[in-house]
Amino acid sequence: MTRRSFRKTPAFLSFAFFALALATLGVTKILPYASCLVENASVPPALSDPTHSFVIGSIRWDVDAYARDPQLQPFRDFFHKNCLAKTGTGAAICVSQVFAAAFPLGMPQRDFYDRNYNPLIDFRRHMAGEPGHCVNRSGLLATMLLSVGIPARVVAIVPLSRTGGHTVVGVWDGAGWQIVDSTANGLLWSPNGTSATDIAQAGETVRLVDPLTFRKALYQYESAIAGNEVVYPEPWLYTRTGNRFSFWPFRGRFVQVGMQRGHLATPLLWMRMVFLLAFLCGIVCLVICFVPLQVHQEMKMQPEGAEWYEAWRELVCPRCARELSYLARGRESWLACAGCQSKFPIINRIPRLLLNQGAGPTEAEARTAASFGFEWSRFSEMYPQWEQNFLDYMAPHPPSFFHGKKVLDAGCGNGRHSYYAAKYGAEVWAVDASQAADVAARNTGGCRVNVVQADLNHLPFAPHSFDLVYSLGVLHHLADPEASLRYLLRFLKPDGEIRVFLYWNPVFPSLKHTLLATVTFLRQLTTRLPHRVVYTLSYVAATVAWVGFVWPYRVLRTFPRCQRLAEGLPMRQYSRYPFRTCVNDQFDRFSAPIERRFTRAEVEDLFRRAGREDVTVRQNFGWVASSSCEG
Ligand SMILES: [Zn+2]
Repeated sequence: MTRRSFRKTPAFLSFAFFALALATLGVTKILPYASCLVENASVPPALSDPTHSFVIGSIRWDVDAYARDPQLQPFRDFFHKNCLAKTGTGAAICVSQVFAAAFPLGMPQRDFYDRNYNPLIDFRRHMAGEPGHCVNRSGLLATMLLSVGIPARVVAIVPLSRTGGHTVVGVWDGAGWQIVDSTANGLLWSPNGTSATDIAQAGETVRLVDPLTFRKALYQYESAIAGNEVVYPEPWLYTRTGNRFSFWPFRGRFVQVGMQRGHLATPLLWMRMVFLLAFLCGIVCLVICFVPLQVHQEMKMQPEGAEWYEAWRELVCPRCARELSYLARGRESWLACAGCQSKFPIINRIPRLLLNQGAGPTEAEARTAASFGFEWSRFSEMYPQWEQNFLDYMAPHPPSFFHGKKVLDAGCGNGRHSYYAAKYGAEVWAVDASQAADVAARNTGGCRVNVVQADLNHLPFAPHSFDLVYSLGVLHHLADPEASLRYLLRFLKPDGEIRVFLYWNPVFPSLKHTLLATVTFLRQLTTRLPHRVVYTLSYVAATVAWVGFVWPYRVLRTFPRCQRLAEGLPMRQYSRYPFRTCVNDQFDRFSAPIERRFTRAEVEDLFRRAGREDVTVRQNFGWVASSSCEG
């Protein structure tokens, strides 16, 4: 059966996630080098002989390959025509001066950072007089030098302000790397003058000068170069031949070296991760909007009725413990107490025996009950897997144990445990304080299950009424588990058995421990969110758990060698259950304001303080504690 085909809360969350993704994208766009891959290299640029090839970080300049590349032939021809026999810095200065004579300084139509850049077309346009600036002059210069086998690379200097900047070329002069500023007519400034000869003589003492930006003093050329605070674009960008180091959708890969004032790459990486996460969450929420909610109703049966009307005679007043009498007027009916004058309505054949007056539940308790009411109305479906789940809780008792027993299911939720206890022959009283009682009644209709809505600390039963009292996954959500346990024990026959399931608290540091700590931290927020929001977020969390743990578990356990690794994975218990079960537990985990966790010793102690020395505690993805004779 399909219930509603579109949901509002996931739609809203989906919108919110996509908005976050878009906002992140917007912020990312502002960051320098946003559309590129940026890599940090802590090592100084290659000091070894780069004559044949050189490497910075993950980027490689294959000088020999460029020197042979047929696509660069026009560059080669140009160089031989204008600067034949020049090498190193001399060659770079020669080419720069030819450029300076051929085209003026100014904004070009495109430079090598553009997607459809073509170095040859760009080169021909400039030679025909199109203005150019530092980026494309440096790109063309480096390409030309590489085409004739002179090791060269484009160097971007990032200013302190992170806007603007300057681009120059590093050239190998046979002994070391020199910087050539092609924008400044290829002339390097030296203390002695500005001629090419001076520079050749000045050797390593050269410094940069740039007439356009130097006066703006955005950055210190000298200190940036000396400290290697520079970024190297991958050579593919300016040559458009050879290896490409970035992949789609990035324009190029960059290596930044020695950035002392915060790396360019770090904020970029974070923004990309946030974007990716928000985008994926948006997709998951969008999928949830449209996936029809499957409700398995094979086990749902219509209530028969007649038997139930007799059952109420066993109930007593939860306030004063006296007998209740049945009142009916028109279509309304009540259970009324002659002792304290309380009147409890019967709605949908379920007696509502809640005490609202006097010492009512605290706000946290009320919110916890409301959370479970929401939970079980959403996760009402019954799965065949619940049978084994119930038997696991009841081990070592076989199904025949239940025959003829009178059982109290304290905190019945959607009624799945009551259903099996009744199926095995018990007479079951299922109690829940929340609206889950209605779900339990629907799921157990037709069985020997009497559903009552009542507070677990104010039960409408006579003392010593039950052979078995069980409370699975409930006490840790109550304000005072010890008092509640002590209270439940009152309803046990002298030879009866009590059985409780409690969340466990792993004591050793482990992956589970870390996950749990994260959950505990997140709960501070999620327990305050509207249930619908947590419900949708539970799908996101369950998807993460499924992809991160359940699928790997299913794959790993098929390999004999990986068994141990597989059994160590958190959340592996869900591999036996449908996906919705995992969603249900995530909701449970993140929504209920009151939640406690216990160690084995704490469980034993809890029972001892409640007067039961004979407790048996067993591990079953939590603690199953049972005690079967009065201590
Ligand atoms: Zn009463």
